[in-house]
Amino acid sequence: MSDQVRRTVVVTGGSRGIGRAICLSFADPDTKVFFNYSSTEAEETEKLVAEAGGSATGLRVDITSEGEVKGFFETILGETGQVDVLVNNAGIARDGLLVRMKEKDWDDVMDVNLKGVFHCTKTAAKAMLKKRYGRIINVSSVVGATGNPGQANYVASKAGIIGFTKAVARELASRNITANAVAPGFIETDMTAFLPENAKKVMITNIPLRRAGTPEDVGAVVVFLASESAAYITGQVIHVNGGMYM
Ligand code: NAP
Repeated sequence: MSDQVRRTVVVTGGSRGIGRAICLSFADPDTKVFFNYSSTEAEETEKLVAEAGGSATGLRVDITSEGEVKGFFETILGETGQVDVLVNNAGIARDGLLVRMKEKDWDDVMDVNLKGVFHCTKTAAKAMLKKRYGRIINVSSVVGATGNPGQANYVASKAGIIGFTKAVARELASRNITANAVAPGFIETDMTAFLPENAKKVMITNIPLRRAGTPEDVGAVVVFLASESAAYITGQVIHVNGGMYM
């Protein structure tokens, strides 16, 4: 393990959007960030983190594949010998009304949003248990708490993440490993880019802070939950939504 690296942070889905902002929020000389992605390129995140004074390596890993996830963590452990922080951020949406929802749209969302979190958390937890230290942060969504029409699959997965987080928090607490969820509201990324401008305006009028959230708003809370200042917080859901759900 490199002497300079004090902390190894793993972020799923770091190539774009909230995941990229999370990687950037961890940019500091003592931290080595590893992130994964499924299809697009990793260079931009790597470059931005390096420019901000940190170090990040992106690897193409499909988190729905147990084998690929194992290989990903073997690479990380081979390089740094530790996994201090895991941020389960990668997620997809396949929206549609329930009566028209295809089984594949249900399965794809569950595979990435829930099974992917299971694979990554299980694998990272083994390394954390050995070290008797770890911070697990799972990205849920405000709709996991409120529900949303047209998103039965996505909402079920995001509510599932909250239950999963609480179970894991209870299971790992005695080994000094915390697990928390962050539930973003409406954040401007590729995931929400398809929304018509009118729909975005209506959403913003329903947000008490009167603006969409930024990926950086979420990154800041993730960094806090990974820090020593959050050592006594576990099993919680932190909402980052401008007040749209209280
Ligand atoms: P995004 O811009 O669509 O980015 C999704 C990321 O997940 C990308 O890096 C993508 O990789 C990666 N990914 C997707 N499937 C994957 C797989 N099978 N294996 C590995 N990586 C995979 O989404 P975002 O808006 O930043 O959302 C990030 C998280 O926040 C998600 O969990 C989302 O549900 C949650 N969230 C978002 C909002 C919002 O308003 N945007 C609100 C609440 C919660 P590629 O680049 O290779 O496709």
